[in-house]
Amino acid sequence: MGKIMAIANQKGGVGKTTSAVNLSAGLAHLNHKVLVVDIDPQGNATSGLGVNKADMDQCVYNVLVEDLPAEEVCVPTEVVNLDIIPATIQLSGAEIELVSTISREIRLQKALESLKNEYDYIIIDCPPSLGLLTINALTASDTVLIPVQCEYYALEGLSQLLNTIRLVQKHLNKTLMIEGVLLTMLDARTNLGIQVIQEVKKYFQDKVYQSVIPRNIRLGEAPSHGEPIITYDPKSKGAEVYLELAKEVINNGERVG
Ligand code: ADP
Ligand code: MG
Repeated sequence: MGKIMAIANQKGGVGKTTSAVNLSAGLAHLNHKVLVVDIDPQGNATSGLGVNKADMDQCVYNVLVEDLPAEEVCVPTEVVNLDIIPATIQLSGAEIELVSTISREIRLQKALESLKNEYDYIIIDCPPSLGLLTINALTASDTVLIPVQCEYYALEGLSQLLNTIRLVQKHLNKTLMIEGVLLTMLDARTNLGIQVIQEVKKYFQDKVYQSVIPRNIRLGEAPSHGEPIITYDPKSKGAEVYLELAKEVINNGERVG
């Protein structure tokens, strides 16, 4: 049975999509079968994995709003072992359209049930909000991975996210756990980054991954080539650390499970 993991933080630009794409590619590289589910209307994970949104006439929108079976929108990527359920701009209406639908919070959970046996990991890239799309992701997931950018106010807004996680645990998904907290975009030349790491570790303790993602130009470039870092520049620091993270995720899962 596969593990479903949401990558969530309502702040934009903290490295959710970069982490969803590159952690998934790392897990796939380590011979695990992985599905990325893009539920951000911006569709950055979709294009970042080389899927052309203009070619898609169906996407995760049709699954969430129109009950289309999820397997019908799964597409393979160029990366071996890695498939994606894409998002297109069509999804931008879903947040509002879902409000009036039956069982609006559990639609993604239901949709992914039949795919859970097909993959080792299903990784959901969330939009930068705590609306119904993110609630659907948290309800469908076994765990949530929280990227935190090594910047001023890193912890700001996290209490809102943790509160939403608690509400989902209480009402929709009792077994949801925090997978881990990932520090992203560390600029090793500044003291600020080190301070933020200490602050986040004080708060989340052993939930914080050893792997800390550095600010790395190649990581920023890869999406415009439609490739994860591991194929775009396998020798880069970014590729090395995301692969380390994938190993940590696998080992943590073995320790807990
Ligand atoms: P989110 O999904 O949380 O909005 P993204 O993953 O899209 O954040 O990252 C925001 C921007 O920063 C993107 O342009 C991305 O390419 C870039 N980026 C993310 N992580 C890194 C990194 N470690 N080094 C350099 N650029 C990064
Ligand atoms: Mg994103």
